[in-house]
Amino acid sequence: MADFDLFVIGGGSGGVACARRAASYGAKVALAEHDLLGGTCVHRDCIPKKMLVYAAHFHHDFEDAAAYGWSLGEPRFDWAAMVAAKRRELSRLEGIYARLLQEAGVTTIAERARLVDRHTVAAGGREYAAESVLVATGGWPAMPDIPGIEHAVTSNEMFDLPRFPRRLVIVGGGYIACEFAGIFSGLGAETTQLYRGDMILRGFDMDLREVLCDEMRKDGIALRLETNAVALAKQGETVRVTTTHGDWVEADVVLFATGRAPNTRGIGLEQAGVELNHKGAVTVDAGSRSTVANIYAIGDCTDRINLTPVAIHEGRCLAETLYHDNPQEPDHRDVATAVFSQPEVGTVGLAEAEARKAYAAVDIYKTRFRPLKHTLTGRQETVFMKLVVDRASDRVVGCHMVGAGAGELVQLLGVAVKAGATKAQFDATVAVHPTTAEEFVTMYEPTP
Ligand code: NDP
Repeated sequence: MADFDLFVIGGGSGGVACARRAASYGAKVALAEHDLLGGTCVHRDCIPKKMLVYAAHFHHDFEDAAAYGWSLGEPRFDWAAMVAAKRRELSRLEGIYARLLQEAGVTTIAERARLVDRHTVAAGGREYAAESVLVATGGWPAMPDIPGIEHAVTSNEMFDLPRFPRRLVIVGGGYIACEFAGIFSGLGAETTQLYRGDMILRGFDMDLREVLCDEMRKDGIALRLETNAVALAKQGETVRVTTTHGDWVEADVVLFATGRAPNTRGIGLEQAGVELNHKGAVTVDAGSRSTVANIYAIGDCTDRINLTPVAIHEGRCLAETLYHDNPQEPDHRDVATAVFSQPEVGTVGLAEAEARKAYAAVDIYKTRFRPLKHTLTGRQETVFMKLVVDRASDRVVGCHMVGAGAGELVQLLGVAVKAGATKAQFDATVAVHPTTAEEFVTMYEPTP
């Protein structure tokens, strides 16, 4: 007789979502988490990052206010006050996670858990028999092994830096690198971003990448493409970053945002017979089942689409399948996503290059303009919007935006893409005026 129907290893967004849903259907569920409940999203990424994004925005808002008749004193930013406010909110959120699990009837075990065999999990000096096991252990920042790397930090440490850095170097060109560049530049740090490739945000639509790069540079970020860090050296409080070009940049803090690796080592997966792929991610089928029939995995440790809402979706589908007689496979198509760079990026569906491979003919609609707000402020920030349309079916298969509010907007564009909306239906939608969003329904002529 098993102690639990389901033993969840990892208390991040995905694990908690699955545990609660499974328990709501009457399953006897345990969840082990040795660190803070809520995982990466709540404590080391999405939530504290968005708080810092808000903080950084005030910089421009204070400047822009003058164009609208406001006069303000000299604004001052207090890093310690921001960090303290953030900490208070995150502990409140952790409390909510704990309460939700308790109310759902999930047994929470505040220990590191490890598989002993396919039906046995060890945690806190005890062994538990489990009918099914869910691995939801997330990921962890990965850094290259270069000389002096010990002088760098990862995004984990950035939220609690003891002092605000006057000069910051960021290595990487993905989500985290671009988001932190915008945040710390906005908060007043002299920010240099080094990216090894020819354009940031690999995998996104090329126009969108180029516009963001241009906007970030206009905003004062020293963004150097085709440039990587080869070594770090510390001199007093300063870290010197030597680049692939042989020159160097000095900084108070050096952030490596060079990707994340699945958190799958040391938890007994191999002993239990679970196959990991070459990146260390758990190999799963479309229903999140590993190569061992009663062991499942969801979220970043499976390295499918590494986003919180995707992990939650995967977790809930699994609970439906196992405990509600409602088999569901997670749907990874047309997942909308935002990069909270400054300005923001929102994207859903196919990039133009992907669409050109997938369809015989595609039409592109795009526009770039200065938003109404900045006609008074004189700020040179622009908004970019793009629609990718399959000519044969007239379906909008990709929507891309760079500009204020892109994250909010792309959530609803995601509904349209998911519903298979056609370009004719976009055109037939009456505009909301005056908004930035109205451009998405008034781009009548394709771009040659
Ligand atoms: P990403 O995979 O997005 O980006 C990693 C970046 O580091 C890439 O630019 C990559 O370059 C570069 N890189 C990798 N290895 C090296 C190296 N050895 N030397 C120099 N550069 C290197 O990872 P992130 O860490 O930014 O984010 C991890 C994941 O977390 C994201 O993919 C995303 O799924 C998720 N996330 C989502 C957010 C959101 O929804 N807003 C926010 C933050 C994270 P190259 O392109 O050449 O490979």
